[in-house]
Order: sequence, then structure tokens, then C-alpha cells
Amino acid sequence: MASPSIITLTSPGSPAALAPQTDSFYGLTREALEAWCTLHGFSRVHAKTLFRSAYKALNPEPWSAPSLPRACAALLPLSLSSAPLRLVAEQRSGYDHSLKFLVGLAGGREVEAVLMPETKRLTLCLSSQVGCAQGCVFCHTGRMGLIRQLSTDEIVGQVLLAERWIAAHPEWLQQVRLPASTRISNIVFMGMGEPLDNVDAVIAALRILSDPFGLALGLSHISVSTAGHLDGIERLYAALPKARLALSVHSTDDAQRSRIMPINKRWPLTEVVDRLRTILGGEGPPVLLQYTLIRGVNDRLEDAEQLARLSQGLNAKINLIPLNVVGPSRLSAPSPEAIKAFRDLLCSHGLRVMVRYSKGQDIAAACGQLVRDANSQSGSSSSGET
Ligand code: SF4
Repeated sequence: MASPSIITLTSPGSPAALAPQTDSFYGLTREALEAWCTLHGFSRVHAKTLFRSAYKALNPEPWSAPSLPRACAALLPLSLSSAPLRLVAEQRSGYDHSLKFLVGLAGGREVEAVLMPETKRLTLCLSSQVGCAQGCVFCHTGRMGLIRQLSTDEIVGQVLLAERWIAAHPEWLQQVRLPASTRISNIVFMGMGEPLDNVDAVIAALRILSDPFGLALGLSHISVSTAGHLDGIERLYAALPKARLALSVHSTDDAQRSRIMPINKRWPLTEVVDRLRTILGGEGPPVLLQYTLIRGVNDRLEDAEQLARLSQGLNAKINLIPLNVVGPSRLSAPSPEAIKAFRDLLCSHGLRVMVRYSKGQDIAAACGQLVRDANSQSGSSSSGET
């Protein structure tokens, strides 16, 4: 039964109603923490102190901050849980220094988070669900179905787990040639799950992660990936108009996209993009269009023309991702020449295009492969990402 201090962040009847109501410190936005302080007779200003202590100082007992009243410090751990997520295993890539964390959740399930160092930034890829209801045919997570939503504190907890790991392993930052003071600079919701099918928990997590008194990651540094969940897109932008979206396109052909991404039957790509044009316009926050290039499937120049047409009227950036094949497959990436021709055609339309290769290929950390190894070892099914 819920204690009087439990603060509800989800709407009844929403997909996120599958998520537990929160009695976790790390599930509370600063506004919710202010409400907790007021409810218990303390000044709301203490919420800022608690946020600094928890997220800037990474204090595992945030209430031990010296400026907090003793009564508040005594009540908080009795009223709100703050248990960290469990690091079950870590795996380092010898290929590009990506680092995969296998993260244990309450109830025995596991998800993955992947840390990806680059020249001037450190990106963490997060999971938002255990499994996924969307069933994209190329995705291991999709084969699991939706097992459960992650709560806000489980999403935020992945960031804290990674931040604490970095703080405890200064030699890793040296190894990847990043300054000793480096902290996570970017977040992508591209781990297990369709984040916008868990939109309430994700919105609360975005508020916490971007809070200026906490980690202060600007919304422009956090990318929410979606297969095209239109309800979630509308709710995300209604709550956070400056949010950044990464839309997985993969095919501009309606019939083909419906075959590989069943969500397209409910929300066809053209309908999703039309709505984005209305919400954002050409001057709004950038939208990243993700396009996995597969030889002989979607790599023709006429596919590039279609993609260019789709991008019109949006502040679009395009990520071309040559298919990352792990194990035997009849599918493959196009030749370097074909990738270049595809990219050049998009560029000729004035579009911003990047060709990106999946990171952590040797540790199965790339799109659609998260947790697969761990689950196959434990006999359960496999996983992936949006
Ligand atoms: S690709 Fe994303 S949306 Fe599709 S099944 Fe996998 S996790 Fe779900």
C-alpha cells in the first residue's frame, strides 16, 4: 500500500501507468521534491541543495549535505528510497572504447546502458523499457514484447550508475583521452524500448537530467529516439517544446516500412512527419532522421530522393547508418561507393548528413543487440533498441 509520501508522476490510463508510482528520491523532479519539502514542513529551497548533492556531487546519501536541517535529513531516508541500481556486469570494447553496463533492476530484470566516448564528448545510451511492444523485425528487443516500463528513477539511475563508475575509474578517462574532469555530456534514449511508449516517465527523467541544479544537461544534449509514436511525440513536445527527437525512418516506402516497423500501420511515417512540421516548423528544434542503409533494400538513389522530400519543411539532420551485421545474415551494408552516392545526393538538396557507424560492435552494444548475450546466457529472450 502506498505511503502518504508517495508522489504520483504518471497519468491513470497512460502507458506509463504500468510504471510503479514513485517513492524513490531519484524519481522526483525538483518541483516534486519541493512539494515533498513543503508537505513535510520544510522550506522548498532545500530541494536545490538536495539536487546539487545528489546529481552534482553524486552523494549516495544526498540528505547528508551539511546545510540541510537535521529533521529533513532524518526524515528523507525514511520516506524516500535511494537505493542505486545494481551493476551486474561491464564489458569494454577493444574496438572503439565503448563500455556496456548490464544494469540490474528490481524484480530481477536487466537492461543495458552504453557509454560512448568521442573526441570532445561522452555520450550515454539509456534504456526506457524492459522489452518493447513495437515489434520491429530487425530488433532483438522487439521480439521480447513489452515486459515492463522503467520508472523514472530507473532511467535516471542508469545515468548515476555511469557517472559513479566514471568517477571511480579515472584510468578509463585517461585511456580514452578525455580530461580527468569529464562527465557525461550527452544522452541518447536509444537503448531497450520505445521511449515514447513510456512518455510520462521519460518526460520526468528529462526534467531531472536537465535541471540546472542537478546534472544540468541541456535538452539540446539529450536525444529521444522514436520509431514514430505519434501520441508520445505530441505529449513530449506539449511538455518540453525544446526536446530533441531522433526519428527512426529506415524506409520511406509505406508498405516496406509497415513490414519492418509495424508501428507504421498505426502511425504512417508521412502522418508523423506532417505532424512534426506542424509542431516544429522549419525553424524549430532539429529533428534527427535515422536511416539504416541496407544493401539492395533501401539504398537506391530514388530512396535518397524520397528521404530528401520527406525532410522538407523540417530542421532535419540525417544520420545514415550502414547496417551493422552481427553473425550470419542475408542482409549487408552497401558498398562504400554506394553509401557515398546516397549521401552526396542528400547533400545536393542542402541537407545536413552524417554517416555514422554503430559503436561498440565487438561488445554487441549496437542498435538492436543490447542485452542479447546476457539473456541468451540466462536462457531468456533477446533485446535491442529504438
Ligand atoms: S527498434 Fe525500438 S521501437 Fe522497434 S522494437 Fe526495437 S526497441 Fe522497439
